[in-house]
Amino acid sequence: MKPLHAEKPAAAALSLYVETYGCQMNEYDSGLVCSILGEEGFDSVPTPEQAGVILLNTCAIREKAHEKVFNRLSALAHLKRRNPGTVIGVLGCMAQNLGDDLFAMGLPVDFMLGPDNYRELPRVIQNIRSGAEAGISITQLSRSETYADLAPRVVSGCLAFVTIMRGCDNFCSFCVVPYTRGRERSRSVESIVSEVNDLVESAGVKEVTLLGQNVNSFRFEGLYFVDLIRSILRETSIERIRFTSPHPHDFPEELMELMAAEPRFCSHVHLPLQSGSSAVLERMRRDYTREDYLRLLRTMRNMVPDLGVSTDIIVGFCGESEAEFEETLSLVEEARYDMAFMFRYSERELTYARKNLPDDVAEPVKLQRLERLIEVQTRISQAKNADLVGKSYAVLVEGRSRRSALELMSRTASNKVVIFPVPEGESPEACMGRTFEVVITGSSAATLRGELRQPVGAARD
Ligand code: SF4
Repeated sequence: MKPLHAEKPAAAALSLYVETYGCQMNEYDSGLVCSILGEEGFDSVPTPEQAGVILLNTCAIREKAHEKVFNRLSALAHLKRRNPGTVIGVLGCMAQNLGDDLFAMGLPVDFMLGPDNYRELPRVIQNIRSGAEAGISITQLSRSETYADLAPRVVSGCLAFVTIMRGCDNFCSFCVVPYTRGRERSRSVESIVSEVNDLVESAGVKEVTLLGQNVNSFRFEGLYFVDLIRSILRETSIERIRFTSPHPHDFPEELMELMAAEPRFCSHVHLPLQSGSSAVLERMRRDYTREDYLRLLRTMRNMVPDLGVSTDIIVGFCGESEAEFEETLSLVEEARYDMAFMFRYSERELTYARKNLPDDVAEPVKLQRLERLIEVQTRISQAKNADLVGKSYAVLVEGRSRRSALELMSRTASNKVVIFPVPEGESPEACMGRTFEVVITGSSAATLRGELRQPVGAARD
């Protein structure tokens, strides 16, 4: 393609500001967008005031996501008034969800592109600038687009994300993802391995998190998710591999065998529960029962000692009775998660639940159930972390502690955050991306504190 603005562009016209809402997959997609426009000569700038092109990469999953973006667009209107040449685009799930409706709201938006249409960005920006088109909305879902040829390098210190598949075929009744991100499709193993190698060799990355809405549905030319992990372990020198999220209904035991055998494959699973009641799970269209879930969890823990387990739970889903909610509480007591993301249900456009199931649990009841659940989980997290005091772990340093410049923030393979003092004679910068062995000396519900034993690989006494 002819480079955009090949004839002497003003610097401001090629300055790009991208703001990301929502999940890690959206962070990754913003990296893709920067890659696509980087090829056309765009450079990222830190504020919208400096940018010729402003993009909001949006999310439709969380409550109030839409209002947040509407408010942000209203706040950006003055930039367009000051410089009408500024191009503002809305990307991602909300663009997919709202389509042309967003133009009717009087907001300063020139175009909208859904998650499968980012390759159109250069053409769309050019057409808006030339006046050839206005109010462009492209929200075509694709069955094949994986952006496999782009390596966006979504790096934060020594950590990086790599999207391995896009979309979801599960159609859980509360979830908008299959409608905004389309059907499941996986990248080639080769392109993922090559991206991980590039991250290790060119960006010094030590840990990758493989992303997908349902990673255990990964399939590429007869290869499964476990084959992908084996290839990454075999063909790259990445020190740690994580993944998120699998679906409990098709979780392969082979994956846990590999996790148990391979220290570079981190011993942590985020296993979304959503509800502890089989009847609610059925209304949610989750394809597993309470008993199936608990059986899977027991198998996992038997296979991988010291496994970290986190989850997602929704309270107050359509028709949830007190007894059904109490089944969630009792499952949480039994499962003893290390951590949980807990939400109260709110309807999403387009979903089966929105169209067919009344959102009939009163808001105060939802809030009260959420508080009760958080209380139980916080007690469990506290107790589980307290049990770790006195034990030793290898931890990867991710950054400085937020509270003290003299302390480091690190993580165990099981995904526990450990804060420990900068080792004597070392600077914090020199510790980034290194693995140390620490002994746990204190704990809270969210964090562990530790003391250095020795750098991993150093002579042991
Ligand atoms: S598995 Fe269910 S909750 Fe997860 S993305 Fe797919 S439809 Fe949504």
